[in-house]
Amino acid sequence: MEKGMEQLIAVSQLFGKNPLYVIAGGGNTSYKTEDKLWIKASGSALATIDEDGFVCLSREGLAKISTKSYPEDSSAREEAVKNDLNASILYPKEKRPSVETSLHEIIDYAYVVHTHPTLVNALMCAVDAQGKCEEIFGTDALFVEYTDPGYVLFKKVYDLIEAYKAEKGACPKVIFLENHGVFVAADTTDEIEAVYADINEKLGALVKEELPQFEAEDITDENVQKLAADFPLDGAIVKLFSSDLISHYVVTPQSFYTVDTAFTPDGIVYCKAKYPYVNSINEVLPAADAFNAQHGFPPKAIALKGKGLVVAEDNDKSVNTVLEVYTDMLKIAFYAENFGGSKPMTEEQIAFIDNWEVENYRRKIAKS
Ligand SMILES: [Zn+2]
Repeated sequence: MEKGMEQLIAVSQLFGKNPLYVIAGGGNTSYKTEDKLWIKASGSALATIDEDGFVCLSREGLAKISTKSYPEDSSAREEAVKNDLNASILYPKEKRPSVETSLHEIIDYAYVVHTHPTLVNALMCAVDAQGKCEEIFGTDALFVEYTDPGYVLFKKVYDLIEAYKAEKGACPKVIFLENHGVFVAADTTDEIEAVYADINEKLGALVKEELPQFEAEDITDENVQKLAADFPLDGAIVKLFSSDLISHYVVTPQSFYTVDTAFTPDGIVYCKAKYPYVNSINEVLPAADAFNAQHGFPPKAIALKGKGLVVAEDNDKSVNTVLEVYTDMLKIAFYAENFGGSKPMTEEQIAFIDNWEVENYRRKIAKS
C-alpha cells in the first residue's frame, strides 16, 4: 500500500468518527501523488473506511476537466463531466468517486479533508457568512459564495484558487463554502488536524450560549406507532423524538419557521427542505397526506407542538439518519445566532438539489 494511504485512512477515520465533523457519513478525503489521486468512494463512510473505500483516479484525466469546455445545458454538462470523471478512474472501476473529486484535484496539497462541521456551518449558513468569515479568519482562508454543486461550483472554486495563487503565491489551505462546509488541505495530516483544531477554537470562542441538550430520546408510544399503517409511505416506521433542542423550536409555528427549510445540500439529500407543523397527534396523518399531495413525496419529519419531532421513513437506519441530519440543522440554526442569525438556502437552490441525479444516487446508497 502506498505510504500516504496509511495516513489518509488514519485521518479519514479520525474525522469520520468525530460527530463534530461528520454527520450521516458526509464529507470526503483524498490523497494525491504526482500522477494519482485517491478519494473516498460514494457510499463509503469515513468512520470505518479502509483501502477498499477509496477510488484511485488518474490526475491527468482529472486535469482535463478543469480546462475542457462543456455544454451550456446543465444536465448535458453534468452528464459529460460525470463521464469524464468516470473515465479517469484507474481502479476499482465499479466504485463511484465522490462528486467533489474535481475540487480535490485542484487543491495543490497531498491531503484534503472536506467536512461539514456543525460549528463551521453555523458560520457558513449565517446571514453575512462572508463578512463574518473574513473577520474571524482573515483573508488567508478562501471564502466561496454559495453556488449550485457540480461543474459550476467547481469552476468557481477553480477560478478563485487561481486568483488566490496569483496574489499570494500558494494555494489556500482552508476553503470555506457558503451553506456547505469546509475543505482543509496540507502536505501532512498533522497539519490538517492542527488547522481544524484552530478553526474549532476560533469559532468555539464566539459561542455565547451553549446548545440545549440535543441527544434525542425516542418517546414513541402506541398512538404514534398506530400512525404507521396509514402514513403515506410503504412500510413506514413512524417515531417521535424529543430533546431540549427540539423543544426549543417546536413551540409555535413562528419558532419553527427558522428550521422549516434547508441550510445545506446534504440536509436536503437526507431530510428534504419542508416540514409540516401540527398541534396534536391527530393532525399528523392529515398533514402528511396534504404534504404528500402538494410535494409528491411524504414528509420526513413533522414538528409536533410542545412534544417533539415525528420522523417517518421506511427503515430504522433512515429514521436515525433523518433525526441526525435534522438535529444538525437545529444546531446550525441555534449556533448561527452567534454569527448574526441563520440564512437558509433559496427556493431555487433547493430545487436544484432536489433534481440532482448524482445526489439521488447517494441517497439510494445511504438507504442500503
Ligand atoms: Zn461537501
